[in-house]
Amino acid sequence: MLYNVAQLLKSPVGATRDYLLDEPFGATEDVPFAGKIRGHVRLTHVNNGIVVFAQLRGPVTLVCSRCLEPFVSDLDLSLEERYIPTVDIYTGIPVHEAEEDEDDEDVYTLNAHHELDLHEAIRQQAVMNIPMQPIHSPDCAGLCPICGVDRNVQPCTCQDTPPIDPRLAALGRLLPAEGRDG
Ligand SMILES: [Zn+2]
Ligand SMILES: [Zn+2]
Repeated sequence: MLYNVAQLLKSPVGATRDYLLDEPFGATEDVPFAGKIRGHVRLTHVNNGIVVFAQLRGPVTLVCSRCLEPFVSDLDLSLEERYIPTVDIYTGIPVHEAEEDEDDEDVYTLNAHHELDLHEAIRQQAVMNIPMQPIHSPDCAGLCPICGVDRNVQPCTCQDTPPIDPRLAALGRLLPAEGRDG
């Protein structure tokens, strides 16, 4: 996911390059990628840099919020990012960002070799897109709040009991034991 855009920067503004991305993306601390990122990447030469449009998809390992079992799910990533040069394409002289009249827009930079690295943009987009409460299947039966058994695997005898807050159930088990000890 590293693209050399030297030729594109020398092309007229509006010029584009299209790529098919199909590369492994290692798991990061905050994104448990579990395989290759695939999709379409379009780079466009704009006035001051390169704009990336990308429609990507990649598998991540999630933990079901109901039954706590890990499962792999495809994450869709839609990128629209701008990258600005750090080195002038013709002179090789470093470009100072202070010369830019940037607002607080989040902008990435090309490296000194005129390479555009999608890695960080993909990671950040993935962090935003990971579901907060993933469910491994819409009909996941979850864990029994009383005995903790995985109801997808086996039924339990407390199925017909009114649900009890598992924290209260834990307290209920603790209190008599403490009473006996003291
Ligand atoms: Zn589940
Ligand atoms: Zn149960």
